[in-house]
Amino acid sequence: MNVTELARQLRTTRAELLEKLPELGFDIGLRAIKIDNRVAESIKRAWGESGRKDRLREQMARSVAAHEKAENKESLSKEIAIPDKISVNDLAQHLGTPVTHFIGYLMKNGIMASLNEQIDFETASVVAEDYGFKATRGDGAVREDSHAVSSKALREIKATRSQDVDGIVRPPVVVVMGHVDHGKTTLLDAIRKTNVVAGESGGITQHIGAYQVEEKGRLITFLDTPGHEAFKAMRERGGQVADVAILVVAADDGLKPQTLESINVIQKENLPFVVAINKMDKPGADIDRVKKELTEINLNPEDWGGKVICTPVSAKKGEGIHELLEMVLLVSDLEKFIADPHKPGQGVIIESHVDSGEGPVATVLVHEGTLRVGEEVVIGSTFGKVKALKDWKGEDVSEAGPSMPVKILGLKSTPSVGEILKVEKIDRSMRKKNVKQYRLVDTGEMHKAKESKTEEKGEEEAEKIPEFLVIVKADALGSLEAFIASLKKLEKPQVKISILKQGLGNITESDVQLAEDENAVVYGFNVRLSQEAQRLSYNRKSEIKLSKIIYELLDDAVVRLKKFVRTEIVEVTQGDFEVLKVFKDSKNESIIGGRVKAAPIAAASKFRVLRDGEPIDEGKIVELQQNKQTMKSLKEGIEGGMKVSGMRGFREGDILKCYLEEERIIS
Ligand code: GDP
Repeated sequence: MNVTELARQLRTTRAELLEKLPELGFDIGLRAIKIDNRVAESIKRAWGESGRKDRLREQMARSVAAHEKAENKESLSKEIAIPDKISVNDLAQHLGTPVTHFIGYLMKNGIMASLNEQIDFETASVVAEDYGFKATRGDGAVREDSHAVSSKALREIKATRSQDVDGIVRPPVVVVMGHVDHGKTTLLDAIRKTNVVAGESGGITQHIGAYQVEEKGRLITFLDTPGHEAFKAMRERGGQVADVAILVVAADDGLKPQTLESINVIQKENLPFVVAINKMDKPGADIDRVKKELTEINLNPEDWGGKVICTPVSAKKGEGIHELLEMVLLVSDLEKFIADPHKPGQGVIIESHVDSGEGPVATVLVHEGTLRVGEEVVIGSTFGKVKALKDWKGEDVSEAGPSMPVKILGLKSTPSVGEILKVEKIDRSMRKKNVKQYRLVDTGEMHKAKESKTEEKGEEEAEKIPEFLVIVKADALGSLEAFIASLKKLEKPQVKISILKQGLGNITESDVQLAEDENAVVYGFNVRLSQEAQRLSYNRKSEIKLSKIIYELLDDAVVRLKKFVRTEIVEVTQGDFEVLKVFKDSKNESIIGGRVKAAPIAAASKFRVLRDGEPIDEGKIVELQQNKQTMKSLKEGIEGGMKVSGMRGFREGDILKCYLEEERIIS
């Protein structure tokens, strides 16, 4: 193709094109006249991408500038009174900023503080300054301080950040969100399969809550539990988790309620995002409809003049995955996620459970610094010395740098998901302190941790009530709560029902693993098994019960609960039946008529036959009748008929002493 023609197609001049080409990686010389058609096509693509990048950068810069201007105007030279200690939550409110943004701001400044953590006045005043406030000391309610962050530390962090020469661009951490069934899980699987880090051939991977893939020689970290609930829960607990979101929208279904909820979360969190328009292989796929729907909620697709990047994919066929990942890298480049690997490791817990072999294990997503084997770490109320680190392929690693998810062994008890891990010397008081029972949020799923086995053995042994351990997953919060409430009602004084883990979404590999480790049953209401979970459950004996009907699951629980208690069969006396007439007499089925005496008789009764006061045989009722109608029971004093089995040779005057057999729990 002629270079001038190419320039015309790209709406630029020949000189400008030739000048810019080396920047885009094409070295064709300033005098070139003709170029190969294939090269021309590559140039067109690169040109488009670079233009897109410039445009996005410009738009982003404009919106940041507008945002900053608005904020400064509002708060500049205002004074606020701050007490000696103040919680992160309260301070955010004083500063008039959403607490999630505020926590994000603190993290960007190297302070990993959660909602209720207290910071001192000095620190708060430095922070307030950044928000355009002048802080003065004032009164205010102060709660117990547990993790005061010193202002010195903040100043130091800020000082090093401004020089940030050690900072490296860390891999972006990506969360996949969208409506149920739009293909989040399939997409996560497809990404894992198509972009396994070089050298790996898609062997067996471990589910540790996140994985890393490589695209164009760069790493990307994926949180592999889809769903915004998960993400929201983690954020609410103070952990900055993802940097970028992929919003999955099925091309044949369009925007649905959970898509809108996801968008809401994305916007609240100010997350850069890419829309993956999935299921493009389906006949009903309509990409324009999705784009139109996005436009209707002011998310204008890029190719329609807006800034929302939409990219078509088929998760099922593994198509469009590389393009999607490129877009993820593109939006990440605009933000530049920087971290300093030389600092002590800090991160957020994204998964945790008790493993029967390994003890308490947790996955941490390193956010800043490097975490190494042998280091002491503190995570909220727990701590430990890192015995081993394993990556998502289950391989031992000696250290984990920024954005790397890694499983930690050696903790004293399971930390809560969303809690912040810090490499820190464990102080003595912490070692002594008993680790209490606490709740876990596992990627939006609530775990109820069992008491730390070593520390609280005394109490556990005192009780010794058998526990029926269950893991409950459901498609929606309402049904999850309803099912758990019904399940809890089945609890008996002799057996406790413990919800080991509860959450929304499909049953994952870690659910199956946990069930296996803890000998628990997994109940899934209106959910499926993820592919990984399916594979894992083939050769394990973990019990998984799925249904769309709550009662089916509850019935299963009733049966299983019985196995936990000792029962006995007791006889419940029914009325007597005096035989007045024998219509048919055979061992398999006799038909007799008579009168009910002393008490009613239930249809499920058995009987012993008395003749002249002596027991002669026994049998059971097959059917009760009154006026040729089948009855559930016959009242005392009435005449009726019975089909019975087990005995033959009835005579008039025989008395059938009826009784019911009932299974009762031995208390
Ligand atoms: P999630 O609920 O968003 O995690 O959705 P899943 O990944 O479980 O997918 C829901 C259903 O859509 C499954 O039956 C998938 O096989 C199917 N699915 C996912 N992606 C595609 C796709 O690209 N094309 C087609 N035809 N089906 C897909």
